[in-house]
Amino acid sequence: MSKVKVSIVKTNRNPQYLQILKYVREALDLIDGIEDLIKPGDLVLINPSWVAPPVEREAGCITIPEIPRAIADIIKEMDARPVIAESSAVGVDSEKVIQESGYRELREMGYEVIDLKKDKKAHVKLPTLSGKVFDKVDCWELAKQADLIISVPKLKTHDQTEMTCAIKKLKGLLTDKGKKAMHQEGLFEGVVDLLSAVKPRLAVVDAIICQEGIGPVFGKPVEMNLIVAGKDLVAVDATCARLIGYDPAETLLTVNAAARGLGVMDAGQIEVVGVPVAEVRRRFLRSVEDDPVEVEGFNLIQGEATCTGCRNTVISALVDMRNADQTMYLPGVTVVTGDASLPEGIAQENIVTVGLCMQENRTERHVKGCPPNNALVVKAIIGDRAEVKRMYADESLDKTDA
Ligand code: SF4
Repeated sequence: MSKVKVSIVKTNRNPQYLQILKYVREALDLIDGIEDLIKPGDLVLINPSWVAPPVEREAGCITIPEIPRAIADIIKEMDARPVIAESSAVGVDSEKVIQESGYRELREMGYEVIDLKKDKKAHVKLPTLSGKVFDKVDCWELAKQADLIISVPKLKTHDQTEMTCAIKKLKGLLTDKGKKAMHQEGLFEGVVDLLSAVKPRLAVVDAIICQEGIGPVFGKPVEMNLIVAGKDLVAVDATCARLIGYDPAETLLTVNAAARGLGVMDAGQIEVVGVPVAEVRRRFLRSVEDDPVEVEGFNLIQGEATCTGCRNTVISALVDMRNADQTMYLPGVTVVTGDASLPEGIAQENIVTVGLCMQENRTERHVKGCPPNNALVVKAIIGDRAEVKRMYADESLDKTDA
């Protein structure tokens, strides 16, 4: 059986546009080009990551504009119509990301750069393929209109899913309502449902400056100077996982997508072309290893069955509180996750239970979700004592996460 190709191309440091165009062409040539995917007249949705500010290239948070621009230029040569479109995280103004990053300049040069949130009515329900959480997902209309969707993620560690790359990035094609539902109903199968619904057939990964630690927004930048490409998103993510020091079996989205036949993750089924993984691999600091928050009088009880989803969610909620100067609300609170029993000798009103797995033991201060939204964990800890300071969203918590 022929193997699935994934290309890895090494770039120079701080590459400029024409250099990036050359590297992207090389990455696509190594996977036998994209003529099989695009015909003249096609509408091609190029979907970069605009999750949230910081937008500066050195922060490693959003996809740098030169990569979607290079893909757009290559698509134009094929007489097709490229559209660069995305919606940022819930509560984040995508237009602000466009204006403050180099995407505004792309618009001024004549590229179609679209804030999907701009037309709130332009959404559709797309059917999933044997969906495990959703029969249909709530997407922006352009995802249905496009003849081809290209995922153009930034490679980062993630505070809930270990890693974010070609598959997880697709959440930007969901409406904010769809994003919230995914966190409430089950992220790890929900995102795979989304993958089955939008069927992207190409990924080009911005792994030039990445993020490690508590990504996907507040992680530490890491210079990798790589571009990764492939037509099987599961294989691309599995290869990127290996690049940053994971066994793909540790990244549940990849595992679930492979298990549902949406691509391959085994090294034996993937042919890495270009630079070998071993030559450029670097172990990234994982979210749970990144500078833990320790406050006297605060207890965290993680049951044995607590998966990385809730582990990372709670850690990132604590980091959000530290960044917002709100750790004074932690003493006296106990947070319990997974399959842990409620601790004896502690009044229930002082216990915050987190996640679907705590369903049976939940207290009045329970936080729903699988994994839940970080901001809701902060809200449950703080209660009415103060407003939750959202770290990158402008909208109030009630409006965005109800
Ligand atoms: S609710 Fe359970 S399965 Fe879901 S993220 Fe939390 S620990 Fe994992």
